[in-house]
Amino acid sequence: MTFNEFNFKEKLQASIAEAGFKEPSPIQRDAIPVVLEGKDIVGQAHTGTGKTAAFGLPLLNMMEANGSVEAVVIVPTRELAMQVSDELFRFGKNLKINTATVYGGQSYSRQLKHIENAGIIIATPGRFLDLLKGEKINIKPSFVVLDEADEMLDMGFLDDIKEIFTYLPEQRQTLLFSATMPTAIKNLAKSILKEPEFITITQSEVTNSKITQSFYVVDEHERDDALIRLYDFKNPEKSIIFCRTKKEVDRLSTFLVSQGFSAKGLHGDMEQRQREEAIKAFKKSKLEILIATDVAARGLDVNDVTHVFNYHLPFDSESYVHRIGRTGRAGKEGMAVSIVTPHEFRMLQKIQKDTGGKLEAKVIPTINSVK
Ligand code: ADP
Ligand code: MG
Repeated sequence: MTFNEFNFKEKLQASIAEAGFKEPSPIQRDAIPVVLEGKDIVGQAHTGTGKTAAFGLPLLNMMEANGSVEAVVIVPTRELAMQVSDELFRFGKNLKINTATVYGGQSYSRQLKHIENAGIIIATPGRFLDLLKGEKINIKPSFVVLDEADEMLDMGFLDDIKEIFTYLPEQRQTLLFSATMPTAIKNLAKSILKEPEFITITQSEVTNSKITQSFYVVDEHERDDALIRLYDFKNPEKSIIFCRTKKEVDRLSTFLVSQGFSAKGLHGDMEQRQREEAIKAFKKSKLEILIATDVAARGLDVNDVTHVFNYHLPFDSESYVHRIGRTGRAGKEGMAVSIVTPHEFRMLQKIQKDTGGKLEAKVIPTINSVK
């Protein structure tokens, strides 16, 4: 199947070709025709499967480019707001549809100025609600998207989101996208969507994907050593290491830098500017290793991450799926490597069960031959 079959406007079709997209991903294939029919949808597919274009392309196609804000996309973090904005801008620019981002920590006046010229607003819940409440903006979008809805609920935005909808027109098309579908999401969908169509891309369709998953069992005191050996052995070009705590991120980044690695931490206690710098350097491959907490790495879209390391296993299977979804993106191959101690065996079993037992036990080469 090709993108031609959606009969998009010519200018949009041109942008898609320019972006190098050839074949729609499964969620795009299934969601786009339904969105074009004007229906509300709940779309579920793992990270890295092209959900942004799944809603972005049909919305851009339906928009009138009439100089007003026609669509609002609500996302969990500033990083995601910028990312989604970039992705939508490149598809919208031929249609003369501008995007504007709205998130905390930036001056109101600047954001309001951008909004004046935008057809699509990409916003985080807190700041967007502020603007609506303060009557700083008066918009009547025909399309509203909740992107990465599970992450927004995890971050405690449920009440903000519900309140946001009290300011939005009844007459609208609403799309909700999420990597996972816990009950809270289904309930939210019930309360703000109208007879939504559920579109789910199953695990098997996604994880016949190109992520090789393995785990290495070590003793607690061997974690650092194991990590270094795995790096020497696998020699990853670009990798993310996941930790459970900010403290661990700080400690591990200091340690890896002291060992001569090109590494930086990423977590919520860092200044926004520092975080953005780290992400930028990583995207530009000026930085090889990003060490992150789950929250900090949410939705991070870096296409060429070759390896994901779990320094510790996460506390639930959904986080595991989120984490490993940072690699193997856009059809590329990826490796997910977990360091596991006997303490974590129960979690490992649960992850195996929930994800279809794709993790393979491996032995770290030369773990006993100390340098
Ligand atoms: P998700 O929101 O599901 O995590 P994204 O929308 O961020 O995924 O897409 C992941 C990456 O894949 C992006 O860099 C995007 O440009 C790219 N991508 C999306 N759809 C396609 C496609 N059909 N062909 C090629 N690349 C794509
Ligand atoms: Mg996304």
